[in-house]
Amino acid sequence: MSARLLEGKPIAVKIKDEIRKEVSEVTSKLSKKPTIAGVQIGDNPAADVYFKSQIKCASELDIEYQHHKLSAEIPQNELFAFIDSLNNNTRVNALFVQMPLPAHIDSRLLYRHISPLKDAEGMHPENLGKLFFGKARVIPCTPRSIMELLKATGINLYGKEAVIVGHSEIVGKPLSLLLLEQFATTTVCHIATGERGLTAEHLKHAEVVVVAVGRANLIKGEWIKEGAIVVDVGINRVNDKLVGDVEFEEAAKRAAWITPVPGGVGPLTVAMLMRNVVEAAKLQLC
Ligand code: NAD
Repeated sequence: MSARLLEGKPIAVKIKDEIRKEVSEVTSKLSKKPTIAGVQIGDNPAADVYFKSQIKCASELDIEYQHHKLSAEIPQNELFAFIDSLNNNTRVNALFVQMPLPAHIDSRLLYRHISPLKDAEGMHPENLGKLFFGKARVIPCTPRSIMELLKATGINLYGKEAVIVGHSEIVGKPLSLLLLEQFATTTVCHIATGERGLTAEHLKHAEVVVVAVGRANLIKGEWIKEGAIVVDVGINRVNDKLVGDVEFEEAAKRAAWITPVPGGVGPLTVAMLMRNVVEAAKLQLC
């Protein structure tokens, strides 16, 4: 392996120190701790783990965390009424609803239902619109974590060839806006690129590669350009082990930097969520 490991944990530690300072300023202005309400719908062991890590991170940062666990059978109108009650609760500064939702609930309607001023994930259309214009204060957590990882390499993205594989609403699409904002020449590949067998062709010139698909070893090591930065967002369980979407060993021989899975993007996302809580609280002070 010649690549340097691009690990999320040390960056998260630094970012949490910054957030802690902001929390103390916001707390004195609000005369209370900034507060996030996390909504879990139904029982899911993976979600339980995620909520645990959110609650731990919030407590480390002196942010108040309200965990609300609702039944998977809750009708959509009742869920929206509950969201309204949190929107109107002056104690609550930010809202987070765990995805995926049960099939009878429409995630786009839900994102629209959360007050844009309390939108901890930055997925309300108003906040996505601000992202489009480069003016967002709350930014979707995974793309923001990826940008922090890229920043930590010291790379200047101006004019760099960046290829994102995966165009989901939560990762690939918002990330493309953040990369464009930095003037990276940005290509987004997706299922149709894969079906035509063209992903390798696009990666030939990629100096920055971000993969968010959810298929183990989809990206072959030999597709990676020498000296590229590789951020592997994918999480896949193979033989009881977590692996990413990139063939790690082979890719690491060619890349300059590569994220491990687990330990790359993951450790940063909860910190980014907390950063958005502080941003939301500040917006409410305006
Ligand atoms: P998604 O299922 O919403 O989207 C998958 C994307 O991959 C789509 O754009 C699809 O077109 C594309 N795709 C599918 N097959 C392809 C192929 N053969 N070639 C090229 N593109 C292909 O996924 P998501 O929610 O963005 O998540 C992607 C992965 O990232 C998952 O493994 C998920 O667990 C992981 N993830 C990790 C974090 C984290 O914090 N580390 C956060 C979010 C998502």
